[in-house]
Amino acid sequence: MNLKFLKNLRNKAFHVVIRKHSNEVSSKIRNIGIIAHIDAGKTTTTESMLYHAGAIKRMGKVDSGNTVTDFLPSERARGITVQSAAVSFNWNDTCLNLIDTPGHVDFTVEVERALHVLDGAVTVLDGSRGVEAQTRTVWRQADKLNVPRIVFVNKMDKSGADFAATVLSLQESLSAKTFIIQFPVMTNEFSGLVDIVNGTVSKWQAIDNPDSFCTVALTEEDNILWKNYIGLKQKLIEQLADLYDDIANMYLTEYTDRIDKFPSKPLVTSLSHAVKNFNAIPILCGSAVKDIGVPSLLDSVIDYLPSPDNSNTNLSIKNKDSLVGYAFKVVHHKRFGPVVFIRVLSGSISTGNKIFNGSKDHSETVSQLYTVFADEYKPISKASEGQIVAITGLKFTGTGDTLFEKNAEANENLAPVTIPQPVYFCTIEADTQTELKALNRCLTVLIREDPSIRIKMDSNSGQTILCGMGELHMDILIERIKNEFKTNCYIGPIQVAYRETLLEKTQRCKFSYNRTVLEKTHNIEMELTADPIKSDDISISTKITDITPEVRMAIKDGILQACQSGPMMGFPLMRVKISVRKFKMTSNSPKTIVTAAVVNMVQEFFSQANFCVLEPMMDIEIVTHSNKLDLVLKSLAQKHATISEVKGYEIERYVSARAPVSEMLGFASKLRSISSGNADLTLEVCGYEVVSNENIETLRSRLIGGVSYK
Ligand code: GDP
Repeated sequence: MNLKFLKNLRNKAFHVVIRKHSNEVSSKIRNIGIIAHIDAGKTTTTESMLYHAGAIKRMGKVDSGNTVTDFLPSERARGITVQSAAVSFNWNDTCLNLIDTPGHVDFTVEVERALHVLDGAVTVLDGSRGVEAQTRTVWRQADKLNVPRIVFVNKMDKSGADFAATVLSLQESLSAKTFIIQFPVMTNEFSGLVDIVNGTVSKWQAIDNPDSFCTVALTEEDNILWKNYIGLKQKLIEQLADLYDDIANMYLTEYTDRIDKFPSKPLVTSLSHAVKNFNAIPILCGSAVKDIGVPSLLDSVIDYLPSPDNSNTNLSIKNKDSLVGYAFKVVHHKRFGPVVFIRVLSGSISTGNKIFNGSKDHSETVSQLYTVFADEYKPISKASEGQIVAITGLKFTGTGDTLFEKNAEANENLAPVTIPQPVYFCTIEADTQTELKALNRCLTVLIREDPSIRIKMDSNSGQTILCGMGELHMDILIERIKNEFKTNCYIGPIQVAYRETLLEKTQRCKFSYNRTVLEKTHNIEMELTADPIKSDDISISTKITDITPEVRMAIKDGILQACQSGPMMGFPLMRVKISVRKFKMTSNSPKTIVTAAVVNMVQEFFSQANFCVLEPMMDIEIVTHSNKLDLVLKSLAQKHATISEVKGYEIERYVSARAPVSEMLGFASKLRSISSGNADLTLEVCGYEVVSNENIETLRSRLIGGVSYK
């Protein structure tokens, strides 16, 4: 990329850059995400991309809290990405819609929502750390959702950065099919990049001056660099020759002894084909903070990641002619109200259009379409296939909904995002009746924005319960309720969501309910069985005939209500299938009475069955300075963690362990203080374990004693 061209790009104003978007043909679009472990450098890489593309005039810094994509106050204060932010900009005449996703495990659902609409992703790695815990999670998600990837090994300027070790960690821990297309020049420190496909080297005079570089063709006089280049180019050609006969033929007939002369075009074409078919992961490197290697990363996004018309996206649709849109995100804008982000999968959408939400079975009107640049919105009149745009005016649409041109029989809704069970919760109460209205409004907005939040009513206490995915998720929610929505309310301590489940299959049991209410007698009988199941849900079977749909619904409601409170300690049930084998009603009882009777009978049934308490568990990964290892291991032992592995040598050690979620509340700040900030923690909920009988009593006294966890 020549310098003059870059400078010209930088001087372009943003409105000039985006004006072309609505008319883009889809081969000139890339919808990509930046995915990685927290702190790998996603936001810095995004910022550097925007700078090089001329979309911003000065590069912001995460540490100064002035980057484009981390714009929420909670993100800027913590220096982390919480919401995936969308930015659209141009590079080499192609429109890039880029989503900077969060790297913290509590926001995995946010990453999955973004991956649903992307055609490709850039995985950023810290070159001194290699593959980290959350890299594995997002990599698995990208595998599941068929998202092709390229890898940017970042932080090559950092002491301890090791390109070869990072590539090895990709191969070993992710079984990635790595295709190295660039390698770093390390003379004492990181000073340049070799482009293996084009046979050029870019060298920086001063690492702190991103413009002080020159790019020249590599020659044999470059000695060690030349040898590395020839070795890696031969490897790249052989890898591609294994996949494509034309590359094998060219190699064998013309270039076996002239590797350096192998033309770049067929390599780029075959590699992009291999990436799209999940046979290759191109590896690049650089330093986002020093602004090195990012232009070639942008070139590679265009060369190797698919455009919408070439994409493997799992959002496959039948009707290619009319509008099909997928809503993947809703944010509440201070001025515009709810803004819905959609990917246009086919057809087009225009400002003022009437559209149909197939998931909610409701018509909607588009007030205005926008292209988005983090928190800046630019109005456009139309968006076509392949584009990612924001819409205002939609009243019902939420994340995972499918939008159509009109209500038609051929409409087929796309799969919604899967949301795991939340494991943390707290009670939340408004101070006054007026505040209650404000609180309800705020919770409605938050749920529409973030589908991983659950709000429940405690049927015993009548309290509102807010459930979330992790401690950081809960902390940020509480912060937003108090500071952003300025709601005055009492928020209880964060607690762990224990569950109860059935230990074994039950016998068929018969129950009856006889009550007289306002001089009318209600006689209801039912026979039930219950079975343990593998999925984390409640399954209900009511394969009985001769009941009306209303009564069937009342029975289901009753069973679900009864399952909210288990017989051991009143925790909600999971992994249970309840089957209604027989149902008889001698009176014409209203739905409310039927539901109440079913709750009563099902709870009696549960009290006779064999249940246990389940406790959510967490996988723990800690990267620590070796001189803090003993302190880290001691604090894990105090938390009843089982340590499975300690590895790494010299400065950094990696500890893997597992512990109950309840023990991990507040552990992140404890670890920070004992390690003086020299340890990184990743926690991921990994399932549930049965609480032993002796621990049940401890748990009971802890809960009855009202001990807060925070
Ligand atoms: P994210 O959590 O993946 O978005 O990572 P950030 O972009 O927020 O960066 C995390 C930290 O790493 C910040 O302190 C950055 O300044 C720093 N950082 C990012 N890129 C580089 C790099 O290329 N080299 C070095 N040495 N530090 C970097």
